[in-house]
Amino acid sequence: MLSSDNINTIEKSIIKHNAKVIALQVPEGLKTKVQAIAGQIEKLTVDVLIFADPCFGACDIPSMQMKNIGCDMIVHIGHSEMIKKHSLPIVYIEYFSDTDITEILEKEINQLKNYKNIALATSIQHIKQLPKVSDLLKTHQKMVHIGKPKIAKHLGQVLGCDQSAVISIQDKADCILYCGTGRFHALGIAKKTDLPVFLLSLEDKKIHTLKKEQFTLQKKNIIRKAKYDNAKVICIVATTKPGQMNKNVVEIKKKIEKKGKRAFIVVMDVIKPESLLGMDYDIILNTACPRIEEDVVFKKPIINATDI
Ligand code: SF4
Repeated sequence: MLSSDNINTIEKSIIKHNAKVIALQVPEGLKTKVQAIAGQIEKLTVDVLIFADPCFGACDIPSMQMKNIGCDMIVHIGHSEMIKKHSLPIVYIEYFSDTDITEILEKEINQLKNYKNIALATSIQHIKQLPKVSDLLKTHQKMVHIGKPKIAKHLGQVLGCDQSAVISIQDKADCILYCGTGRFHALGIAKKTDLPVFLLSLEDKKIHTLKKEQFTLQKKNIIRKAKYDNAKVICIVATTKPGQMNKNVVEIKKKIEKKGKRAFIVVMDVIKPESLLGMDYDIILNTACPRIEEDVVFKKPIINATDI
């Protein structure tokens, strides 16, 4: 449910933009609460349309669709701002967890005994706890490094597609500690660095090393690259999602063809294997969300455009 601060933020924006019809978008994990949240917003004397397609992140704002159906503003819950320009005004309501990370860290600190310089990262849900985590590490004589991200909003915040908050400071660190739920973000970091990566998991309340997973991910990348080098026909996939859209697809195609390969461009909203049925190619070159290659099983190999 939304707090009174959240409601105030939404109300101010409704007044500012003279909004009458609001599009409401929540992550899958909040779908059970979406009707109650819509009810809270409707008390501000507006109508609410719930956008029910899966929401993959702050990259995935249906501004054009919701404008076309008559909305004046979007309330997007669960992620911080990622893209500045949209065809509708957007209110981002960040969603924070109050699970105490420091209790777990205190219990598991021994896992970090061989490391002095620690680069810290987390997701938006736990970002407010980073100063407390940092203070606790310092009381254990650790040096703590928290970097500025390129796409994400807060110091130390990582997204599935933006690990720059830790990668930018990895030279100063001996290891990276990611605190959060699930392995998705920690694995995203592990793929991008040779430093040891640790996951402080809020699920089992332990600190885990990701050494094995890191080795496997990096090996998979080498294999993908070799498959790309041997491929003759490249299927370049692009999305219409605003924050995942790559407007250089034509340039990418030209560059590939200059190197003697054939390439064609396929555009869709959600990138899914069924949309590619019937097409003939050797490998998919993904220009959309860079984590699709791990999350979706395609019939042919897939590689990110950033990795070729
Ligand atoms: S990882 Fe993918 S889904 Fe998540 S914010 Fe980045 S582009 Fe969007």
